[in-house]
Amino acid sequence: MKSEKVGLVFTEDYQKYNFGDTHPLRPLRLSLTYSLMKKIGLFKNEKLEILDPKDCTDNELELVHTPDYIDAVKKLSINPQDSSVKPSDYGLGPGDNPIFKGMFEASALVCGASITAAKKVWDDNSCNVAFNPAGGLHHAIENRASGFCIFNDIAVALRYLKTLDKDIRIAYLDIDCHHGDGVQWIFYEDPNVLTISLHESGQFLFPGTGHLDEIGEEDGTGFSINFPLVPGTNNKLYLKLFKECIPKILENYQPDILATQLGVDIHYSDPLTQMGTSLELTKNLAQEMDIYAQKYCNNKWLAFGGGGYSMTVVPRAWTLFLAQMLDEKLPNELPISWINEIKKKVKNEKIPKELWDSDTQMNNQLFKNSNDAENMENYIDTLIELCHEKFLPNLTKK
Ligand SMILES: [Zn+2]
Repeated sequence: MKSEKVGLVFTEDYQKYNFGDTHPLRPLRLSLTYSLMKKIGLFKNEKLEILDPKDCTDNELELVHTPDYIDAVKKLSINPQDSSVKPSDYGLGPGDNPIFKGMFEASALVCGASITAAKKVWDDNSCNVAFNPAGGLHHAIENRASGFCIFNDIAVALRYLKTLDKDIRIAYLDIDCHHGDGVQWIFYEDPNVLTISLHESGQFLFPGTGHLDEIGEEDGTGFSINFPLVPGTNNKLYLKLFKECIPKILENYQPDILATQLGVDIHYSDPLTQMGTSLELTKNLAQEMDIYAQKYCNNKWLAFGGGGYSMTVVPRAWTLFLAQMLDEKLPNELPISWINEIKKKVKNEKIPKELWDSDTQMNNQLFKNSNDAENMENYIDTLIELCHEKFLPNLTKK
């Protein structure tokens, strides 16, 4: 049964998570997402409930982060020059995670929003799906910022769910182009949080992890699953791997809830990554996840945003996800008013006309050499075989 209500956690205050104008993670992507969802008509859907994020308490942050780290972020948030803190000890400073005034409140807000979404899905029986597009900060660990992520809102929300039901089994699925390392390491010894990550291989991309042999430790052995992909992987191969592995994994694990990180930097045009997929894949993945949540995950789906650095791709991708959650079929046409908005606000990107695009053009470039195509296909088949022979048996032996 589909959800009567769909929660979308949103606030203007998301704009405060801002590393500055030259940083790739621009809060503009969130305001453009909200604007597209609205202009395309999704906010008229009666199922949709827009939720205000709750405040996140220190106790809730401490479900994951060390008091020492929280304290350091607080001090630098008040005074970025505070000499009592050495930022580099905490992964903060020039580069990926620059310090900015108000960073504590901005980061805690994202955690509060993810808890709001988690609580909604878990407690409100009429709402089986909730989405926090500002969430998905999957790289942060207990005592360190990493990869644009100060606090790990996903881990905080999942630990929060564990306080509501200590035996809860959570399946966490991460489709961001970067490995979901923070979430993986935080739950590496926990059999009750299964982490699955599909990403561009760590051989080629930050954070350099997410290899096939990272399968968990101690009680958590077998409950971390990684699918490292080669640059240029296209829609067809990605979807083949996804459909042949993910439902089987979920069916074997029997989770109480599906949590997904919906990073959209797997798009071919993303400036930070090298994949060959398009928004047509995103549309298919949204559909698949919706089915899996209903079929294998107790009909509960908690969704977070994630990476994505093209200002015209992120809004379209997350609009496709929300449309799927609401069961709304959208035409492949962008509202003129939104196109005009991006013409004004987005520079250096081709202005799209369609809600989703195909990967045909990419494939023509990538597969000039038929050997490459064949190698890629063989590699995907190897991953599928490995999943069936190695990963699945680990999930049922207990
Ligand atoms: Zn990413």
